[in-house]
Amino acid sequence: MSKKNIDWGNLDFNYRKTDYRYVANYKDGKWDEGGLTTNDMISMNECACVLQYAQTCFEGLKAYTTQDGRTVTFRPDLNAERMYDTALRLEMPPFEKDRFIDAIEKVVKANEEWVPPYGSGATLYIRPFMFGINPVIGVKPAEDYMFRVFCTPVGPYFKGGAKPIVVKISDFDRAAPHGTGHIKAGLNYAMSLHPIMEAHRQGFAENMYLDPGTRSKVEETGGANILFVTKDGKLVTPKSDSILPSITRRSLCEVAEKYLGLEVEQREVYFDEVPDFAECGLCGTAAVISPVGKINDHGREICFPSGMDEMGPVTRQLYDTLTGIQMGRIDAPEGWIHEIK
Ligand SMILES: *Cc1c(COP(=O)(O)O)cnc(C)c1O
Repeated sequence: MSKKNIDWGNLDFNYRKTDYRYVANYKDGKWDEGGLTTNDMISMNECACVLQYAQTCFEGLKAYTTQDGRTVTFRPDLNAERMYDTALRLEMPPFEKDRFIDAIEKVVKANEEWVPPYGSGATLYIRPFMFGINPVIGVKPAEDYMFRVFCTPVGPYFKGGAKPIVVKISDFDRAAPHGTGHIKAGLNYAMSLHPIMEAHRQGFAENMYLDPGTRSKVEETGGANILFVTKDGKLVTPKSDSILPSITRRSLCEVAEKYLGLEVEQREVYFDEVPDFAECGLCGTAAVISPVGKINDHGREICFPSGMDEMGPVTRQLYDTLTGIQMGRIDAPEGWIHEIK
């Protein structure tokens, strides 16, 4: 397979138009057969439900070239399932899981020249999304929807390796109790833009949000789940109904247990216990794991023993094992690697 003439090693994390994308339309109560198009533009009425009432959701996953030259995606069935659940919560017609995977396969296959080569550090980021498209002025769900999947090659999230970051405890909430924190809705991101810009202006990389009900438990950041490692080497990850169920986090918990023989606790994590942990990291598809060196709680610093120079040792093992599985260097659990043929 010939590849595009791109300096893969120096790609940034920005949108770049690729050749093909997938589109399906929901009209008169059903999804049409859908298919690939080269048209990257969308035309819609000024009163489209997505524009007025933000009825939109999305997913994010990656395609890679493995060490032995296969093009693969990682657990796309879980993205299909999560988008299905998200759609139901937003009163949108879910896109069937088999068809979701078929759309991913078609887009990656059609854009195979854009899948970065093995070892480049770059990946093909895939973005499925769905939104209400017909005019809606009285508040109600749309009747017509568009489902699309595009892809864009992206560089490593952290150039020059993942350096530990400093995060702040946010005074804003990410999600309401019994709200939409557990689904991948655009609205969760719209409201996070002000808090993240404020954090950046104050010199922090990310916001760590506490539970909105009591502000005593750790939830997640704007776009990544949180992992902690105890001093005796257990992996601890917060459990809450208002956290987005990260596929990376769920995979890392399995890796910890089955590959590294670590004990894993998925439970409520009180902010009071955080100073006792040895390591902390953020996890999601984009960066896999970003190590956290320091948490700033209104001026009080919580410094992890792993420090500000490199990932903690357990975080490093988790990172190396999961990326090894994704890149085909380590045998994957059944069903994790989805080859694009
Ligand atoms: C997408 C997302 C994540 C990460 O999920 P992955 O499936 O691991 O990519 C974490 N938190 C939020 C709020 C997200 O939207």
